Amino acid sequence: MTQNTTDPIAVLRTLIQCPSVTPDEGGALSALTDMLSPMGFSIERPVFSDEDTPDIENLYALLSGNGPHLMFAGHTDVVPVGDEAAWTNPPFSAAIKDGMMYGRGAVDMKGGIACFVAALARYVEKHGNPSGSISFLITGDEEGPAINGSKKLLEWAAAKGETWDGCILGEPTNPDTMGDMMKIGRRGSLSGTLRINGTQGHTAYPHLADNPTRSLVSLLDALLYPAFDEGTENFQPSNIEVNMLDVVGGAINVIPAKASAVFNIRFNDTWNVDTLKAEIERRLNAAAKDRKLRPTKNNDTVFDIEWREQPSHVFLTRDDALIDTLGKSVEKITGRFPEQSTTGGTSDARFIKDYCPVIEFGLVGQTMHKVDECVAVDDLETLTRIYEQFIGDWFLAATSKAT
Ligand SMILES: [Zn+2]
Repeated sequence: MTQNTTDPIAVLRTLIQCPSVTPDEGGALSALTDMLSPMGFSIERPVFSDEDTPDIENLYALLSGNGPHLMFAGHTDVVPVGDEAAWTNPPFSAAIKDGMMYGRGAVDMKGGIACFVAALARYVEKHGNPSGSISFLITGDEEGPAINGSKKLLEWAAAKGETWDGCILGEPTNPDTMGDMMKIGRRGSLSGTLRINGTQGHTAYPHLADNPTRSLVSLLDALLYPAFDEGTENFQPSNIEVNMLDVVGGAINVIPAKASAVFNIRFNDTWNVDTLKAEIERRLNAAAKDRKLRPTKNNDTVFDIEWREQPSHVFLTRDDALIDTLGKSVEKITGRFPEQSTTGGTSDARFIKDYCPVIEFGLVGQTMHKVDECVAVDDLETLTRIYEQFIGDWFLAATSKAT
């Protein structure tokens, strides 16, 4: 069945009605295949596997042309619906009420994909194929562990010789209204577990024991204060949150032997993963020698730190042509040049940035991951027009840059 791909509402309805909760494909990639094939895309759907994580199906669609290559990136997987009974309309119904379309993935981010499909279909209808290549890099593993998703899909495509000149990722980036914000980079994320080894004993005989909770307080204080930095031109201040504490105790009169804390740091471009780890270790080593809270002890605190694997690296897109072209496309449609932001969590842009400049712009994110996730039908039309404008302007800019 061929679908009217120029209508983002129809495209989004089809996508929402596919229950593609990670790791299930749910029919979403097949639906996308059915839309893109008639437009001339060659489509591959590699499945990636890894230990201890489900197999994931992904999609790479290429409309090959002579000239620069623009990638649109996104994900068709969605987070679970949560309490289904709490939804006003069933989460995979795509019901429209009072100008809003309801459904899991409406804004995060089947809506973004639907708008890009519609934008391209409209562009091709008016102008023919763009003067270059255009591809869809769509994963089914963004909301899950992200192990068998974009990272491997990029490696797989690059191994086949694919190269890209720019990428737009369609995650929801606008806080309140269309035109508010685009993302030109992301903070890094580093997590670790701090473990302190003491000596168990009787609370009435502390000189015979070594309570690790005293040291835990000192060491955490050293991590929390002073602040790592005050922020930079493009980024918020780096921030640490201690989110789990564990003391293996047993009774009111027993000094425990071990204490640990788990922390997560969102960091800006003052640091990279290595310099930040070094700063943390420097602070902990200094605090371990400080006996402020353990006056009866003359030994240093014994601790170790275990870094969580696969930290996210901080990045900032410096491709002015990409930023300027998208900003102006947004301005032409909404009347506003969007704020250039690096706020929020990580996204698959952290993988894409190793291959080409990447920028993020999509729908209004207010209801993402919530019950009654929904998108304003008007916003779908606005985003489709922005993307259509962007496709035309980007190829124009990229072609004139190359010649
Ligand atoms: Zn998303």
